[in-house]
Amino acid sequence: MRCTICPALGISAFALVSVALLAAAPQDTGAKKWGVHDKDRPQPVMVAPGGHGKAPSDAVVLFDGKSLDKWTAGGGAAAWEVKSDASGGYFQVKPGSGSIRTKDGFGSCQLHIEWMIPADRQCNGQQGCNSGVFFMDRYELQILGSNPNQTYVDGMAGAMYGQYPPLVNACNPNGQWNTYDVVFHAPKFNTDGSLAKAGTMTVFLNGVLVQDHSEIWGATAHAAVAKYSAHEPKLPIGLQDHGDPLCFRNIWLRPLAD
Ligand code: MG
Repeated sequence: MRCTICPALGISAFALVSVALLAAAPQDTGAKKWGVHDKDRPQPVMVAPGGHGKAPSDAVVLFDGKSLDKWTAGGGAAAWEVKSDASGGYFQVKPGSGSIRTKDGFGSCQLHIEWMIPADRQCNGQQGCNSGVFFMDRYELQILGSNPNQTYVDGMAGAMYGQYPPLVNACNPNGQWNTYDVVFHAPKFNTDGSLAKAGTMTVFLNGVLVQDHSEIWGATAHAAVAKYSAHEPKLPIGLQDHGDPLCFRNIWLRPLAD
């Protein structure tokens, strides 16, 4: 068989025919729902991807730079302070006022959050530069000034507190914003309350992979081995008041199917 355009395309006539045949009829994939290249397979939903400081079009925006309306503390208004600078709005922990949590509950999700340790903060181990993101109000992704700052490694930036250190230290120095992009999968429980499937976290810190589908041991504990306790499928996301005036901005979330 001769193919006049194949040399120009850098492929063989056999490859060209094979591609044509594959495109013509979906390949049987046995028990799988869809055939390979199945034209009847539904198109993914269109999502405008957002960009710097802008959430994707299908995201739940948890902080838009203006208000803490999506957050609560102890059943009342979140008392942390909303501020702004040249880059836009952010909010700051009001030390001693208590942790805050979202009014709505969430299960598995993709979360984007940006945080910054003020430039004048002195980080001394777990003191001075500490906060955290608590998925489902109990699974902490640690926030800690870690450039420079030595502490136990399962308690530094990018750590799943008390469980896994980050794969690398990709933390920016104090005074610079850091970004977390997280894929969180909620744990599943049997009707008798026993664990059916552990939760997981995949985390990028400033675009660098620091947790690679790490399997959660249980609810975050200090100086103790974490254990699971059955809970609802959707619970708030918490931000920790550890007594330090950390800053946050650009928080959005996309619920994920389990
Ligand atoms: Mg913490």
